[in-house]
Amino acid sequence: MTERIGFVGLGHMGMPMARRLAAGGYHISGFDASASIMASLDGTDGMTPAPGLPAVARTGRVILMLPDSDVVEQVLLDDGLLAETKPGGMVIDMSSSDPARTRELSERAAGLGVTLIDAPVSGGVAGAVAGSLTIMVGGPEEAFSAVRPVLQAMGSRVVHAGSVGAGHAVKALNNLMSAAHLLASSEALIAGRRFGLDPAVMLEIINSSSGRSGSTELKWPRYVLTEAYDAGFPVRLMVKDIKLALAIEHATGTPSAVSEATVAAWSAALEDLPPDADHTAIARWLEQRPPVSG
Ligand code: NAD
Repeated sequence: MTERIGFVGLGHMGMPMARRLAAGGYHISGFDASASIMASLDGTDGMTPAPGLPAVARTGRVILMLPDSDVVEQVLLDDGLLAETKPGGMVIDMSSSDPARTRELSERAAGLGVTLIDAPVSGGVAGAVAGSLTIMVGGPEEAFSAVRPVLQAMGSRVVHAGSVGAGHAVKALNNLMSAAHLLASSEALIAGRRFGLDPAVMLEIINSSSGRSGSTELKWPRYVLTEAYDAGFPVRLMVKDIKLALAIEHATGTPSAVSEATVAAWSAALEDLPPDADHTAIARWLEQRPPVSG
């Protein structure tokens, strides 16, 4: 019999992830707040629009791919998804959420006999479409083993990060590093261009040298130099993630001068850029800043 999975949040990431699950033989009962997204689910290709959250809960195994912890709590608590889930059920929060709030939710779920674990992802929309995401799981070993086959339909690397919240913590910290890399590489590449260097030549050199990162290998060539700025991950979600990571650094008493500067620059960019600007547009934002005299 085809296994059913409930999937809430079919946006940039959720839709291609749900499609990978459907292609892997699971039947998806999908739900999203957007009427146009719901209308796009026509019941074919293993994806059925759920009439409401109770129908999603009845699958007994629900994946969330929502913007942040506020929305995750709204769906689980205010909209009643958790209360509708029967004991023995499982909720997998694949959103990039706040690890501390995930731990609280998991305890609350356990009180109802429901297992809630975190399994956020890295790899962007391209990785979601290709089914090549890196998936970092926080939860007990038995839960990890139980969901592994499901997660493997969406990702090529499924790693058990630790106890509940561990996935969300490493995801936030990863994005803080990624945000710092994009900022640092953009400053250097813009300076190089102003110095008279060709950024494409600089990237060729840097990508076989020690300055390379995901930003120089992927983001600058694919989204910045082409002026497409359409990686599919908005600045506002990046700022959400890096503030979570900075809170972890503060809570653990870790020196955070570079992280503070990173969060300040990204927050300033968020204020200036249009609401849904792609995160790669930070390079253009930097380029357009007034010259700094030195
Ligand atoms: P998105 O905004 O494209 O999708 C979120 C979806 O949730 C939307 O379709 C929205 O309609 C739906 N939604 C919002 N409130 C809802 C509610 N109350 N009930 C039901 N549905 C609701 O966001 P995304 O880019 O798909 O990101 C989802 C998560 O994945 C975020 O936590 C993000 O930080 C993380 N993430 C994104 C990327 C990326 O490249 N976009 C990469 C890795 C991780």
